[in-house]
Amino acid sequence: MARPADLPPMLAHARPRPFWPDTVPASTPAPALDGDIACDLAIVGGGFLGLWSAVHARLRYPDARIVVLDAGVCGGAASGRNGGFCAPSISHGPGNAMRRWPDEAETLIRLGAENLNDFAEDLEALAIEAEFERGGKLVVARTPWQEEALKETGRLFARCGIPARLLRGTALAEKLDSPVYTCGLWEENYALVNPAKLVAELRRVAMASGTCLYENTPVTGLRTSDDGVGLQTPGGALRAGKVILATNAARPLLRRLAPAVIPVYDYALMTAPLTQAQLASIGWTGRHGISDSGNQFHYLRKSADNRILWGGYDAIYHFGGRRDAERTQRPQSFARLAEQFAEAFPPLADTPFDYAWGGVIDTSARTTFFTGLSEGGRVAWAMGFTGQGVTATRFAALSLLDRLDGLQTERTRLRMTSTRPFPFPPEPLLYASVRMAQHGLAQEDRTGRCGLTLKALDALGIGFDS
Ligand SMILES: Cc1cc2nc3c(=O)[nH]c(=O)nc-3n(C[C@H](O)[C@H](O)[C@H](O)COP(=O)(O)OP(=O)(O)OC[C@H]3O[C@@H](n4cnc5c(N)ncnc54)[C@H](O)[C@@H]3O)c2cc1C
Repeated sequence: MARPADLPPMLAHARPRPFWPDTVPASTPAPALDGDIACDLAIVGGGFLGLWSAVHARLRYPDARIVVLDAGVCGGAASGRNGGFCAPSISHGPGNAMRRWPDEAETLIRLGAENLNDFAEDLEALAIEAEFERGGKLVVARTPWQEEALKETGRLFARCGIPARLLRGTALAEKLDSPVYTCGLWEENYALVNPAKLVAELRRVAMASGTCLYENTPVTGLRTSDDGVGLQTPGGALRAGKVILATNAARPLLRRLAPAVIPVYDYALMTAPLTQAQLASIGWTGRHGISDSGNQFHYLRKSADNRILWGGYDAIYHFGGRRDAERTQRPQSFARLAEQFAEAFPPLADTPFDYAWGGVIDTSARTTFFTGLSEGGRVAWAMGFTGQGVTATRFAALSLLDRLDGLQTERTRLRMTSTRPFPFPPEPLLYASVRMAQHGLAQEDRTGRCGLTLKALDALGIGFDS
């Protein structure tokens, strides 16, 4: 990481990479594809979506030849570097479901809660050890308008039968004691996981069940013919009966999907391990996750060894949708995060950060994923998870398998997943619109008032979130 002179001393020794992979024993990468092969189902992408697809495909088709191809290594992208928040939602929260799909919101909310239960059951049934903890989540507010929004969310949760309660004063300080937060909404049904361990375990389960994995194997082209789908890679070609595209924020292999999502960079810091006394000094003795409110929000959680992950706030879109490894390091975002951490937690202001990293989020204008079938029903894809894909990818994987099987299920019938979001415009309009939307969101955070730009975008069903 470049170390400008004005980088705060707490970041002086931060390693420029995600924390989570360092908690997983090193494994030898799978070989790259070398030669031509054939299979029944090929999955492009070895993140959560691709690996859940592989694991559930094996449960459905014990004898199928299943292949997973990843351009790098499994979990090298978003799945190995996220916050690990496991939402009981597939719709980026109940409020988003109510606002965008009022007719199916009840179903979306139920399916989201069921998916978290099924996710937990899968981990147990597959003997996956990934530090899964179902400790709840606290959302905190710092301004009167954020408090109002939290109360509104509390009322909405009550109408939907979601257990939650507003906390203030001592009740709040027992979950988090900070001079900047005045109110909190406690949501009981929320979980955390170590994302790199989850990827490693899903990879292990997939391989143990006979799925072939090729890493460092980018798929560079896709062509359909009568007898299947051909995937081109630098080392050879693969012919598959069916294909799942699970490439998230990478440039899509089906070019026509490109306007549906934009790559947005999100950043995080991880402190050194903290003592129980240090954690008690900010009232955080439980194992719950926390986020603050507003459009530019932070998320924070503990690791198994009691570090604090502090991420979010900046959401950076680069002109032309540029994506490259260098952009996962952004000293100005790290410095801002460190400063905000010290402001929120004065007793921990001198705590050093051991890791600083970023990752790409596949942002859709509706902030939820959607699925599709193409190439005569042989190719299925899902994308647009927008910062809430840890549990939703499991649900999406099942939807893709249903779709490839031609099944009509509750999952495939959802309007949320079977229609496409509003497409993003081409450049240079896109960059200008994102800047305008971000300006409006920051202004709303500062003043509590929603400006004209945001109202207009909202009327068109366009949101911008990370
Ligand atoms: C910093 C950060 C924090 C986040 N925090 C949370 C959180 O707390 N909770 C939550 O629910 N979500 C969170 N998310 C979002 C979540 O991580 C993603 O939604 C989820 O990991 C997406 O999984 P995926 O399998 O679709 O994508 P990825 O994990 O990105 O996997 C896609 C894979 O496809 C491969 N690939 C791409 N193109 C090709 C190609 N042409 N050929 C072969 N392989 C290819 C890539 O190498 C990659 O491994 C966060 C994301 C980030 C970046």
